[in-house]
Amino acid sequence: MSVVVARELRRDFVVGRGADRKPLLLRAVDGVSFTIGQGETLGLVGESGSGKSTTGRMLVGMLPPTSGHLALFGETVSYNPAAFARLRRRLQFVFQDPSAALDPRMRVGSSIAEPLEAAGGMTRWDRTGRVAELLDMVGLPRHAAERYPHEFSGGQRQRIVIARALALRPEFIVCDEPVSALDVSMQAQIVNLLLDLQESFGLSYLFVAHDLAVTRSVSNRVAVMYAGSIVELAPRRALYDTPQHPYTRALLAAVPRPDPHAPRREVIGGEVPSLLYRPPGCIFAARCPHAMAVCRSEVPTPREIAPGHQAACHLY
Ligand code: ATP
Ligand code: SF4
Ligand code: MG
Repeated sequence: MSVVVARELRRDFVVGRGADRKPLLLRAVDGVSFTIGQGETLGLVGESGSGKSTTGRMLVGMLPPTSGHLALFGETVSYNPAAFARLRRRLQFVFQDPSAALDPRMRVGSSIAEPLEAAGGMTRWDRTGRVAELLDMVGLPRHAAERYPHEFSGGQRQRIVIARALALRPEFIVCDEPVSALDVSMQAQIVNLLLDLQESFGLSYLFVAHDLAVTRSVSNRVAVMYAGSIVELAPRRALYDTPQHPYTRALLAAVPRPDPHAPRREVIGGEVPSLLYRPPGCIFAARCPHAMAVCRSEVPTPREIAPGHQAACHLY
């Protein structure tokens, strides 16, 4: 069963008024479709502002879509707060910056226990036991519960945030750049922790990152996002070994590779287009070395070019 089924999810933000007083709409996410299976990790990669966090927030009910269809655990999602309350326990969101996610004045144990307390139904004694169990799970000593966030490193703080996210035994977690703020050695540790937890509890993840280096070790499949659209989606091997979309190839060119003699991949200059005044046709056309006349007039729709491998590009 798919844990997440997203069809044509779209999200606009009103960012002001035009000269004609009509609302100015910024289309942050322009109709994305994908699924995430049980125990699966879908990597979601793209430059800053491509709509990754907005997509993730829609999946866990933090932000209603402007249009589109979302089903979680086989049920169509309605964003009315009462209906969503039932689902909320099964969903979690881990942010990039663990310091911002933790109250500096609260002991770590109280921070981790907070969702348990809010959910109710547990005695203080039970909660203390559960906090100890959660600290074990994320590889922190039990006495960490008595200390404050500033006494820990960035990586340890991210472990605390993950412990809190796991408190209510969620099934699906959006990890929004969970290692971007950490140094490289710490990144690998947190990634391994997330993988271990996934194996132990059958968790499903949407794993957001801004480059393709980090997602490689965690994702079963990877979706590449550009200016609000998913331009390519493929199983991990296919995406890294045979990328099809010119933008994916450009992103891969930026990933350091072990073989220094391998031929250089194409690097793409230019800037992400304005999301306020979207050009007609392919949103990548202004930066694409392969752009043709049709690219400037017709929006390419995603097409399956191999089993499970789709790209939205007029070259295919
Ligand atoms: P980053 O890598 O910087 O985190 P992102 O891919 O997560 O970027 P989003 O945060 O989803 O991108 O933002 C997509 C676009 O939507 C951006 O142009 C952003 O400025 C805009 N946006 C996001 N949230 C809002 C909001 N609440 N109001 C107005 N615009 C917003
Ligand atoms: Fe480039 Fe055209 Fe493909 Fe867009 S549709 S990525 S402009 S070749
Ligand atoms: Mg983001």
